[in-house]
Amino acid sequence: MTAFVFNEINFDNHEQVVFASEEKSGLKAIIAVHNTHLGPAMGGCRMWNYATEAEAVRDVLRLSRGMTYKNAVAGLPIGGGKSVIIGNPKTDKTPALFEALGEALERLGGRYVTAEDVGTSPADMANVASKTKYVAGLGDRGDPSPFTALGCFVGAQAAIRHQLKRDSFDGLTVALQGLGHVGYDYARRLHAAGAKLIVADIDQAALQRAQDELGAEVVGIDAIYDVQADIYAPCALGATLNPDTLSRLKAKIVAGAANNQLATADIGEACRQKGILYAPDFVINAGGIIKVCYEYLNTPEDGMEAHVRRIGDTLTEVFSRADAEGLPTSVVADRIAEAKFKK
Ligand code: NAD
Repeated sequence: MTAFVFNEINFDNHEQVVFASEEKSGLKAIIAVHNTHLGPAMGGCRMWNYATEAEAVRDVLRLSRGMTYKNAVAGLPIGGGKSVIIGNPKTDKTPALFEALGEALERLGGRYVTAEDVGTSPADMANVASKTKYVAGLGDRGDPSPFTALGCFVGAQAAIRHQLKRDSFDGLTVALQGLGHVGYDYARRLHAAGAKLIVADIDQAALQRAQDELGAEVVGIDAIYDVQADIYAPCALGATLNPDTLSRLKAKIVAGAANNQLATADIGEACRQKGILYAPDFVINAGGIIKVCYEYLNTPEDGMEAHVRRIGDTLTEVFSRADAEGLPTSVVADRIAEAKFKK
């Protein structure tokens, strides 16, 4: 087992990986602390019905490492970590489960701070908070999604300036996949800025609303890859940039909120070769973690929106360096992060 963890591609010098369990509640959790050079590790707690423990280990290591990169590039005084609870979020949740997680976090003494993620909710985090103060984003001060959407919007602005040499969205078409918490707000901003929207979702009510309120054109969930658009905005699933979709996309810019958009690392280079400007996901979608971090550290919130808007400047730096060095934007973004957290 140990050999398996240390040899995992995303183990990547994790400082600490803790297997936490508690008999009465049935808690089985893995807490991964990737890097704390910039501050306590922060990243959400995912609850998922993993088929195997190995799958849970792989997921937590990948996500935890990703948080180090995201938090560093966002200029936050926090490191990267993540936790997963093995279990079905629909049937296995109890307050005691999250209280037991809180006790496990307390034993880590603040090296890792958790928050809501896939399969967990602000109510679950309130149960965690009954046992520890090392929990952020309790939901009492609002949803981080609008800030993620703002980051995507300023990121798309940076991308059109760089790639299309223009400031305005007037006359541009955005193919937007996923009209959820982030996607709808991002769509609203794009519409207000003059963009035409082509949208896809599995939620018919969200599609109807986008048609009625934003004049969006609706296409099927697979057809979104084939439409004539200037920007592709993935805001639903991961791994939507792959050899198949790259051969179909007409857009010259990818700017969306979804995590882990590249199916494999080499797709970053494939985008570059196809002349597609890819806004690296962990740079453009950091608005939410910026908000959560400000709340947790009690940083005066008057500077928060400006901090989120700096995502645009960071992306401009990524795009320019990628051009100058002949590298994929994904590689340049990794290097910018590493220069910060490896110090
Ligand atoms: P959400 O669950 O609110 O929205 C996802 C939307 O995608 C839903 O409307 C859903 O119906 C739709 N969808 C599901 N499958 C689809 C498919 N096959 N084709 C098209 N649409 C589909 O999630 P969210 O909070 O808006 O997050 C969206 C993405 O952004 C996720 O990948 C998430 O990890 C990432 N992200 C979110 C935040 C945040 O602040 N919420 C921060 C960083 C990253």
